[in-house]
Amino acid sequence: MNKEKKKLSLAGQIFIALILAIIVGLLMQNYADYANDFIKPFGTIFLNLIKFIVVPIVLLSIMSGIVSMKDIRKVGSIGIKTIIYYLCTTAFAIIIGLVGGNLFKGLFPVLSTSDLAYEAAESTPFMDVIVNIFPNNFIAPMSSASMLQVIVMALIFGFSIILVGEKAKSVAEGVDALNLVCMKSMEMILKLSPVGVFCLLCPVVASNGAAIIGSLAMVLLVAYICYVVHIALVYSICVKTMGGISPVEFFKSQMPAMMFAFSSASSVGTLPINLEGVKKMGVSEEVASFVLPLGATINMDGTAIYQGVCAIFIAACYGITLTPAQMITIVLTATLASIGTAGVPGAGMVMLAMVLTSVGLPVEGIALVAGVDRIFDMGRTVVNITGDASCAVIVSNIESKKAQK
Ligand code: ASP
Repeated sequence: MNKEKKKLSLAGQIFIALILAIIVGLLMQNYADYANDFIKPFGTIFLNLIKFIVVPIVLLSIMSGIVSMKDIRKVGSIGIKTIIYYLCTTAFAIIIGLVGGNLFKGLFPVLSTSDLAYEAAESTPFMDVIVNIFPNNFIAPMSSASMLQVIVMALIFGFSIILVGEKAKSVAEGVDALNLVCMKSMEMILKLSPVGVFCLLCPVVASNGAAIIGSLAMVLLVAYICYVVHIALVYSICVKTMGGISPVEFFKSQMPAMMFAFSSASSVGTLPINLEGVKKMGVSEEVASFVLPLGATINMDGTAIYQGVCAIFIAACYGITLTPAQMITIVLTATLASIGTAGVPGAGMVMLAMVLTSVGLPVEGIALVAGVDRIFDMGRTVVNITGDASCAVIVSNIESKKAQK
């Protein structure tokens, strides 16, 4: 009871910090440099602490999730459900983005594309992307926070602990204990979240406040409408029908994580808070600690929506109308691109290059939306982490029903 009260008050504090950050940010629009020089560094310290704890949390929580399932087949069954849900909702998200973009296309401004410059990161050949998922070194994936590689490490070690069985009992207990220690550290860091949220968001509002009202307001609005539609429709229906929980309860428990995602624009950074939120909804530890770290790395519905809306907008600026075949290509590439997007601020914009290239749109078009990327990013991260949580609720519900049979 006492604990419950404490958690609620943290959510309240984050909310107040969010509102304050917007108010102070708007007031500081003429002093954006000060906000960036003196407020942002504290946000960066907070984000750094989160980044520091996130690699051990992903590694240990996936390992302990696997070990607690005790059965490789069970891991496989949860894994398959998770991946199918992630892929389907992402494809849905990009379709919503494309439909929204097409519906409101007429209201988009047509910006000049004559002297655009955008230096796209060198694209990695597809097979290299696959090769890079697998670690070739024990330390490097952790030091460079290559989350897909960390997940592969966790899977290999987790399976091995199950297979070794009795003799690895002490290792399994060690992993559990270490996981608890990391969770405790995370809890301590999270106590700072109201301050972190304020210091991260305030400089963003101070620097971008005017740009929101600028020429891209309509595109931003359409992206946000699509984000809301996806959250309100797809996730509500899914948690209600497959998760056995009312959408109101779901969103209430999700609120702190959503607010945190909005201010930090990092799915991976939001992971610890998201874990707490789903546990409040009764999601089992083994499911939460497997599904959420995976989702924070590969499931990016908000990013997919953003890529759909931006592809339509950029095409319109170049006077190009996308054909149905091109739209299908976008659905496929944006789904893949969102898997490859890291859960850190700004990553989705880098992957937009891949989507544009797949349908022959000029990559320089990204420069049209780059200035306000952070504002797109805050919303898409909220969608990204909410999708992960909805999956955890659903998979946990299906598994517990299966166990009761
Ligand atoms: N910032 C997003 C996230 O962390 C990724 C993106 O840039 O789309 O989920």
